[in-house]
Amino acid sequence: MNFKDMNLIEELKMVLKQKKFIKPTEIQEKSIPKILEGEDVIGLSQTGTGKTLAFVLPILQKIDKDNDCVQALILCPTRELVQQIRQEIKEYSMHLKHIRSVAVYGGADIKQQIFSLKRRPNIVIGTPGRVLDHIKRHTLKLQNVQTLVLDEADEMFNMGFRKDIITIISKTPESRQTLLFSATMNDEVTSISADYMKNPQTIKVGKQNTTLDAITQTYFLVPKDKKKKALHSLLRELERGRTLIFCNTKNMVGMVQSYLEKMGYRPAVLHGDMPQSQRTRVMNEYKSGKVEILITTDVAARGIDVNDILHVVNFDLPQNLENYIHRIGRTGRAGKDGFAWTILNSDDQQQKLKQIEKMIKAKITLKRLQLENIDEIKLENKFAGREKKNGSFKHKKQQNYGKNPQKFRKGRK
Ligand code: ADP
Ligand code: MG
Repeated sequence: MNFKDMNLIEELKMVLKQKKFIKPTEIQEKSIPKILEGEDVIGLSQTGTGKTLAFVLPILQKIDKDNDCVQALILCPTRELVQQIRQEIKEYSMHLKHIRSVAVYGGADIKQQIFSLKRRPNIVIGTPGRVLDHIKRHTLKLQNVQTLVLDEADEMFNMGFRKDIITIISKTPESRQTLLFSATMNDEVTSISADYMKNPQTIKVGKQNTTLDAITQTYFLVPKDKKKKALHSLLRELERGRTLIFCNTKNMVGMVQSYLEKMGYRPAVLHGDMPQSQRTRVMNEYKSGKVEILITTDVAARGIDVNDILHVVNFDLPQNLENYIHRIGRTGRAGKDGFAWTILNSDDQQQKLKQIEKMIKAKITLKRLQLENIDEIKLENKFAGREKKNGSFKHKKQQNYGKNPQKFRKGRK
């Protein structure tokens, strides 16, 4: 099946063609027709398999240009994800001049958002808290919503948005279509789908709660006080490429940043305590390739689609097992290869990783890292920007990676 054989309007097919997207992914092929027919859909597929377009394309197709009310509301857990989905909507509505979308999220100027909402958008994308805020201010009216999407539904519940989401749902008409997408599911979401969806069609692609085969997964076991050294050693060994490092706390993000800076890297950081303008700037710099290493918390674990992230490093083992799936799912997207590296510091954590391994039905291989004298090996100045130059990362392997840069590429499936 190709996009051109699907029941999509020409304006959408044109953009798909321009983007050289020929074939729909499996989740798209199975859910788009159902959504176009008006069915409620629960779409479950692995990370990076194109769930966004699975709901964005039919929504764009269904927006009635003679109705200037909010017809589609998309809820998702983080501001970065709101911005990303808005961007995708803008790109795909290139030939649909009647589409007006507005993004609403916390930490950004509410007056500006109120102003945008007055300009009669037909699609609103937002985080639950800020959407509810606008509902209370009467600056967002949902009585004409025909399609409601909960992207990363389980995460919004984990974050404690359950009550807000139910309130928001109650402001939309009962006749609405409800769509729910994620790579993972939990019982709470299943229960909400029973209460608030009409005869939902569950579309499951691949095994649930699994990771992609395209991601090669490795872990290391080191003493706790050597974790930073282990990270430095790992970064030296890795093939150059966009790298995302996850820590469990903002505090740890800061400590890892200081250490890596001392070692000569120029990492950027992203976490929930930063002002929104800074969060947006950092994401843009990371996306454009201006920075190669980003250290973050789970705020970037869900949904974020940055092209060509080669390595995901779990500096800390995630507290919540599903988040392992989401974190490493930032690599290996849209059919590409990727690498996931996890640093552990106790037998207890190793047990937890074994549990994860069972859940995701994939192999996570133990490897060793060179830790002796690593503190003495600081990066030379020329390495200091693992920064993008002339449009691509420099691959100065000998200079930057020590003797055997390809070491960890070996033994791949
Ligand atoms: P998910 O939500 O499933 O994690 P995304 O919707 O973020 O995945 O999509 C991941 C990447 O795949 C995006 O960069 C997107 O542009 C790309 N993509 C989506 N659909 C297709 C397709 N049919 N063909 C090729 N690439 C696609
Ligand atoms: Mg997604």
